[in-house]
Amino acid sequence: LNEWLTTEGEYMNSLLDFEDIGETTSCGYCKEVKNALYRCHTCIGGGNTNYCQRCTVGMHQGTPFHRIALWNEAAGCFQETSLCEIGLVIRLGHATPHTACPNPGTPLGITTVHINGVHNTTVQPCNCPSSKLLHLQLFDKRLFPASVHSPQTVFSFTVLDQFRYFHLEGKGSAYTFMNAIYRLTDDTGCIALQDRVREFRRIYRQWGSLQRNKASGRYGSSSQVLPLVVECPACPHPG
Ligand SMILES: [Zn+2]
Ligand SMILES: [Zn+2]
Ligand SMILES: [Zn+2]
Repeated sequence: LNEWLTTEGEYMNSLLDFEDIGETTSCGYCKEVKNALYRCHTCIGGGNTNYCQRCTVGMHQGTPFHRIALWNEAAGCFQETSLCEIGLVIRLGHATPHTACPNPGTPLGITTVHINGVHNTTVQPCNCPSSKLLHLQLFDKRLFPASVHSPQTVFSFTVLDQFRYFHLEGKGSAYTFMNAIYRLTDDTGCIALQDRVREFRRIYRQWGSLQRNKASGRYGSSSQVLPLVVECPACPHPG
């Protein structure tokens, strides 16, 4: 630990730099001087760089659940905000986030549960003639809807996978896992969060069923419906 004692101060300086905007008054991407500057706490590339609202939204089209903060000059600190609050909309129904839908639907507010917390997000359904129903459009964006009819809560595929390993290795329950997600969202207890454990347990069971069926190959290109169990080579088989 002697090595650590000599370098701890440098680590602390870097850590404190994350809390301060520094001398800059311009966006790190478009270079325009702006009053409102944002910093992403999730992007590795973000580091100590600050961006304007338009650039922050533009660079997060594919990563809408990053945690961002707005510099408050009067208070002298960064304040938590969200990409949804500054105008990011998740566009559904088309392969890439930058593809403009010619028939966009009315934007809807939905709650997304992701590995780094609960997010208020805005989604814009696609109303093109070949479009799927809303719950399937959400699923195509790797968001599992908690309801088929007018979904208002979705769970990211990542959070469902993460719980699988958390449960398998740590024997943790859905209740404790979701409590950790709530604390990641707000550890002060100042924000009233709706409890979504019941929906999470149900969706996780549905997710598990999909994963087992997928791994079994029974929904592959073969028209033959295969069983979920592994075929025993020692058992006698017809033919
Ligand atoms: Zn900019
Ligand atoms: Zn980011
Ligand atoms: Zn469309």
